[in-house]
Amino acid sequence: MSTTDDIAIDPALVERFIMEMARFGAHGATGVWRTVYSPEWVGATDLYARWCEEAGLTVKRDAVGNVWGRLDGTEGGKAIVSGSHIDTQRPGGRYDGTLGVIGGLIALRALKERYGAPRRPLEAVALCEEEGSRFPAAGWWGSRAITGRIGPEDPDRIRGLADETIAQGMREVGLDPARIPEARRDDIDAFIELHIEQGPILEQAGLPVAVVTGITGIRHYLVTLEGTQNHAGAFPMDMRRDPMAGFAEIASGVIDTAHRCGRPAVTTVGRVEAEPNMPAVIPRRVRFTVDARHPDPAACTRLYASHERLMQEVAARRGLDMSWETFLDHPACPSDPGLVATLQEAARGQKVPFMLMASGAGHDSQQMAAVAKVAMIFVRSKDGRSHTPEEFSSIEDIVAGIKVLAASLFRLAY
Ligand SMILES: [Zn+2]
Repeated sequence: MSTTDDIAIDPALVERFIMEMARFGAHGATGVWRTVYSPEWVGATDLYARWCEEAGLTVKRDAVGNVWGRLDGTEGGKAIVSGSHIDTQRPGGRYDGTLGVIGGLIALRALKERYGAPRRPLEAVALCEEEGSRFPAAGWWGSRAITGRIGPEDPDRIRGLADETIAQGMREVGLDPARIPEARRDDIDAFIELHIEQGPILEQAGLPVAVVTGITGIRHYLVTLEGTQNHAGAFPMDMRRDPMAGFAEIASGVIDTAHRCGRPAVTTVGRVEAEPNMPAVIPRRVRFTVDARHPDPAACTRLYASHERLMQEVAARRGLDMSWETFLDHPACPSDPGLVATLQEAARGQKVPFMLMASGAGHDSQQMAAVAKVAMIFVRSKDGRSHTPEEFSSIEDIVAGIKVLAASLFRLAY
């Protein structure tokens, strides 16, 4: 079989799953506060495991608490997997992560009900942790365990906001940190993640769904500019070594560079600290961050290089001492071209209007790319909001996304 007619995804079931899952960590009217290894997280993973069983999937919990639901394939082989993360921001909303957790399960359930056993194994997964919202350095804990990217010292080294180690957090829910290597998988062929867009592009385009062509490369610079602290009235402009003036020129220059590159290049100056921070003093030091992103690896390299050239040129011309460190550097992660083609065919087959888009945010898929082919489906976010209780996606859009997912899994596994 290679084609499907309209795959029936029950909107009432989708809505019920979203609302029931949102009870675990419910925060205010629409928020969810569900950090990894918390009692709310335990409740949510138990519920997910129960739903997987009800759908006729074989349930397995791995060494870090990822929950897997599997449909064996009649011909065996590597698995086709769909899922996302079950943890949230503090507080986040009902959709970030959870949508892909629920979407993968509902897609498998619909396929099994209609077509029975697949040819190749299909799995749905609730990844234990992605947000870093309890243990800031843990980010992607679930997918990093699957890809073998958690170091032996990490469990005792990574600390939470209450100074507990993640090893302690694991033990509290009955997991043994020494067994983390057992979570590794080398039998996954493809990973498809459904996720909310978290930006305004689909809404602006009037479309429910996007097929994601890749995940952006991200580099964070922490830049320090040093000059000479002096009196704001007594020192002529032409005799100053003013790091604030250098900062202003660099900030405006890097932002302008990304603007002139056009979408999807983005550069943000999000933090600045001046020393001293006084109205009548030329500061001696200004420290600031530059966050630069592009999903195309070559364009990413060009964007970083032009930012670095600009910073060096401004610092030299103004006689400032400058240093920087890159404290975050994730390479761009292009989606698998074959999967992108499959997702597009599936969307056309389901008559779901869509566009192609790169992801400006990081996702589990970029970790999973180390062991599997990856691609993502985005669902329209109201006002582009996320990481807030106000995030919202309509059931119609979510159903459209799950249909595309289910039809893609059908093409790959049946
Ligand atoms: Zn997410």
